[in-house]
Amino acid sequence: MDIEEKVKLIRENLDKEIKSVQSTNDLSNLKVKYLGKKGCVTELTHDMANLSIEEKKEIGRISNELKSRVDAIFSECEEALKNKELEKKIASEKIDITLPSTKISVGSANILEKLIEEMEELFVSMGYDVVEGPEVEKDLYNFELLNLPKGHPARDAQDTFYTYESTLLLRSQTSPVQIRTMLKNKDKTPLRVICPGKTYRRDDDDATHSHQFTQIEGLLVDKNVSLADLKGTFDVVAKKFFGEERKTRFRPSFYPFTEPSVELDISCFNCEGKGCSICKGTGWITVGGAGIVNHNVLDNCGYDSTVWSGFAFGFGAERLAMLKYGISDIRTFYTNDLRIKDNFDRKDND
Ligand SMILES: [Zn+2]
Repeated sequence: MDIEEKVKLIRENLDKEIKSVQSTNDLSNLKVKYLGKKGCVTELTHDMANLSIEEKKEIGRISNELKSRVDAIFSECEEALKNKELEKKIASEKIDITLPSTKISVGSANILEKLIEEMEELFVSMGYDVVEGPEVEKDLYNFELLNLPKGHPARDAQDTFYTYESTLLLRSQTSPVQIRTMLKNKDKTPLRVICPGKTYRRDDDDATHSHQFTQIEGLLVDKNVSLADLKGTFDVVAKKFFGEERKTRFRPSFYPFTEPSVELDISCFNCEGKGCSICKGTGWITVGGAGIVNHNVLDNCGYDSTVWSGFAFGFGAERLAMLKYGISDIRTFYTNDLRIKDNFDRKDND
């Protein structure tokens, strides 16, 4: 076969084979087949030892022409492949902006936790410390040192969960944390603390009662503390949580650990004092209890009550949240229903 026929055959084969190239890998295999060391184009110039210079020149020219042509075909093919792959990539990355988006569910804090945090921030800004204590508590701290000795009738008001040991119980109030804090303060310096936490009572669960609920109690011990100081502090809380225009009032009450004791009322935020179902027609809503710390409690905890005085207050966190967010069922706080969470989030963002 002479050189012209070989070149013709190579070109015919290449024209056929280039059509079946689908990928850059196919192309590079084909390149080796034609232009590699043992490729059919390269081999054209082998075995030229017995040829004349003229013949060598001629074969060199023909083989160079073929090589250029083959190079051009490969470049063309490579370009086409690149374009094809780019088109494929663009198609796969195409975003249809008319499609509805996937709804992402974002987690958020429980509304009760948010309220407790807000309360903590408020009191910390007034120089209070946040303190915590155990939920399984000694009778001594939950009752006795709080001026509620064994057999005291006021113990009945707090239906308590006792453990198999009658000296241990699930705390029925967060007041034992105040007792612990006062006892721990060996130097008997002034104190300002709030104690938020879970408390437990043997209540039947219904819309407004739960066997577990959350108290936020506070205690201030210093010299010459009066009800006026308590009133000023309560005013700040009422305005922060229920609006700047809130009025506050004290109503006489009874707690064994405070004397005098008061109920903490705010002017109704719903009817502005005219009377509605939330305030039961009175224009006032009770949001907590408070008083001047009973001298027995101070003495029990090593604070000389002839020198020291203080006030204490307590709020039901659930009650505050129910009033603030218009929630009618206390059990709402303890369910895992995400629809309720979403609803709170919406209210919060309004
Ligand atoms: Zn009202």
